[in-house]
Amino acid sequence: MKDVERCFKGRIFDGKDIIEEGWVGIGNDGLISEVGEGKFAHSAENITEGRDLTILPGLIDAHMHFFGCRYEDIAEWNLISGELASVRSVTDMRNLLMAGFTTVRDLGSKTAVHLAQAEIEGDIIGPSVIASGHSLAQTGGNDDLKFLPLEMAKSLSYSYYCDGPWECVSAVRKVIREGATVIKVYASGGFAAGNRPLPNLTFEELKAIVDEGHRSGVKVTAHAYGEEALNNVIDAGIDSIEHGIGLTEDIAERIRKAGIYYIPTMSVYMAEKNNHGRLNLLPRIRGKSRVNRSEIISRHVTKEIEIAQDVGLKIVMGTDFVGAKNSRHGDNTIEIERLSKFLGPEKALKSSTSLAADCIGLDKAGRIRKGYSADLVVVNGNPFKDIVKISKNAVKYVIHGSRIFDIDAMRKVP
Ligand SMILES: [Zn+2]
Repeated sequence: MKDVERCFKGRIFDGKDIIEEGWVGIGNDGLISEVGEGKFAHSAENITEGRDLTILPGLIDAHMHFFGCRYEDIAEWNLISGELASVRSVTDMRNLLMAGFTTVRDLGSKTAVHLAQAEIEGDIIGPSVIASGHSLAQTGGNDDLKFLPLEMAKSLSYSYYCDGPWECVSAVRKVIREGATVIKVYASGGFAAGNRPLPNLTFEELKAIVDEGHRSGVKVTAHAYGEEALNNVIDAGIDSIEHGIGLTEDIAERIRKAGIYYIPTMSVYMAEKNNHGRLNLLPRIRGKSRVNRSEIISRHVTKEIEIAQDVGLKIVMGTDFVGAKNSRHGDNTIEIERLSKFLGPEKALKSSTSLAADCIGLDKAGRIRKGYSADLVVVNGNPFKDIVKISKNAVKYVIHGSRIFDIDAMRKVP
């Protein structure tokens, strides 16, 4: 690792198109100084080239969590100490960088605003972190540990509970005060203990959150399952939809017209399948409210992605990984591989670079263009022929924050 003033030669994916042979120059100001096509025309020092290198914009995961937990378990996510979560997340940050991620967006945790600061100040290495801080949720919402007394659950939660539009406005101000650079809201429940996902927060509450977020200059994104929640957030003016389970052609059309980004987070549902070690403390509901979760999920990861693709939604890559044993940070490119099955490799890589940058509001990033941030990943092989070449094992260099990280050398350091 050293200050950059370097040139990389190889195949280039600029965030939109593939240039089979070209070069990218990087200035020591951390910006891309030059992008060229064809044979390298002039001589320069510090050239890195290889037989089959591909240079891409640094990858972006638009939905993940630094929970520092070992299981896909809401109780553990709430109960873990901030100290242990932070220490483990420092390793997760390094692993994400080594896997080619130069920006991640944490949508709800107690640690991410601090990781973001430490990364900017150079105390730790990792991707830039866009952090929501605490997410916003109604009392009794999906991630509320209902077996605990309310005040205890509130104090442990990674969400701030807010009920009524003015409490919602106040909660937005509070997270921004604490360093949030995006707002995350739960517009519905999930599948806690097999229950039917219900809409959370009223339209008025959601509108209050979106308006206050926008008034403060930050984007607002919503966890939304089911028709009612999806319609509520579209009407409220949301910027992006997380999960979006229950997508229909009609709703997809509304999402497209409103220019909202769609983040299907397929990988987390696949990871949950292999779950083990749940604490299972959440109350279970019998009878009508129970749903066939696996049916809903399998529709989401097949039919709903096809609808999103057919309607022409702006599909963005997000894993919803929490760093658990079966959703490890560093394995996040699995979502690109899954998206690629539906969209093909170019669109899947666009969804994790240029489109993801637009979705999360990054300026001059996510593309290889002169004057843009030199956030880059250089991999061995051609991901457009074999998408697995985007996974962590193929990464050779990562450029981020005016530094070049030699990943082969870092792999040797435990
Ligand atoms: Zn999430």
